Amino acid sequence: MKKNIKNVELEDLQNIMVSLNQPAYRTEQIRQAIFKFKRTSFAQISNLPKNLKDYLEEQFEITSLQIKTVRKSLDGSIKFLFSLEDGNLIESVYMPWYDDTSESIERETLCISSMSGCSVGCEFCATGKLGFKRNLQVSEILEQIFLVEQHLNTKLTNIVFMGMGEPLLNYNNVVQAIEILTDPNYELFSRKKITLSTAGVANKIKQLATTNRPVKLAISLHFTTNILRNQIMPINLSSPLEDLMDAVEIYYKSTKMPITYEYILFAGLNDTDEDVKRLVKIARRVPSRVNIIPFNDISFIRQTNLSKDLKIATKEQIKNFSDKLKENGIVSITRDSFGSDIEAACGQLTLSETKMSVKIKPIN
Ligand code: SAH
Ligand code: SF4
Repeated sequence: MKKNIKNVELEDLQNIMVSLNQPAYRTEQIRQAIFKFKRTSFAQISNLPKNLKDYLEEQFEITSLQIKTVRKSLDGSIKFLFSLEDGNLIESVYMPWYDDTSESIERETLCISSMSGCSVGCEFCATGKLGFKRNLQVSEILEQIFLVEQHLNTKLTNIVFMGMGEPLLNYNNVVQAIEILTDPNYELFSRKKITLSTAGVANKIKQLATTNRPVKLAISLHFTTNILRNQIMPINLSSPLEDLMDAVEIYYKSTKMPITYEYILFAGLNDTDEDVKRLVKIARRVPSRVNIIPFNDISFIRQTNLSKDLKIATKEQIKNFSDKLKENGIVSITRDSFGSDIEAACGQLTLSETKMSVKIKPIN
């Protein structure tokens, strides 16, 4: 199988050009053609000599993802299911945000995956229930964006790492993809238009703070005690809340970008006044806001004892909780779930399209 040119690191491409007796500027010509102009074949790169194009064509491929299914939701969001070259599947969700008049689109966000499946295994998450297939390569991360733009003939404005997988456990490839996406030479995205969502890997958050162009950080907090987090989000066993909060503080101090906390409200589990108190304390530590997310039911998957306890909160319960946060001066917004009619929640479409290792509950 040919290597994807997007996975060739800058220094390696420079070395290849030296070995081919090509001038140094060829490296940037090739990278610009691929990342800025999004060429899909080497033949299209008109400023390269023919022998170099032929060499690249022989040695490398440019595109490795394939769109398998596209599903459009009534709310305008569009879910893309991609197949990887080894047959594994990943998902991206396109979300248009309209202005107040509902006439023109203000933002076009793509939610992208960093893994096929996920190695963390949170109890509430369909992707977690899929298990881990593998980390995505740099090319597979970038091509979700490029293929969706091409398919919809649009220019995306925002990227969120909130699809399948835990981005900080595929750290090197995710950071390399971010370096390319935010490289001013390619005019793709500013770092403020990219959000990385993590279940909370403390040491990697600290490392991310030291990168060239750190992006916005969202923490999937969901629970305010180690007891519940340990049970429902196993990442907490190696990154307990205290370590996570220290890392968040370091991230904020170094980047000066407010933090977003994601909080799925589960009725009767994380919605008490004590939770409000603890959440307020966490949210006040550095400038931040809280996104309250309605739980997307995953009861189509075989339930464990733990996941049976995860109950959807009503609109009223969500409003109550959000009001209590506001009373304490915490900026909180309730995030609508996009695409609930097209199984747009993380991992759901893949589950419905494949017979993966998860047991699907029989319909009775
Ligand atoms: N692994 C990263 C990013 C992918 S998950 C993370 O966990 O942050 C993206 C977001 O979807 C996370 O906030 C996650 O907690 C949330 N999520 C997962 N399953 C969900 C469900 N069934 N209902 C609502 N949100 C869910
Ligand atoms: Fe993985 Fe995030 Fe799902 Fe947890 S919520 S299993 S970290 S994708």
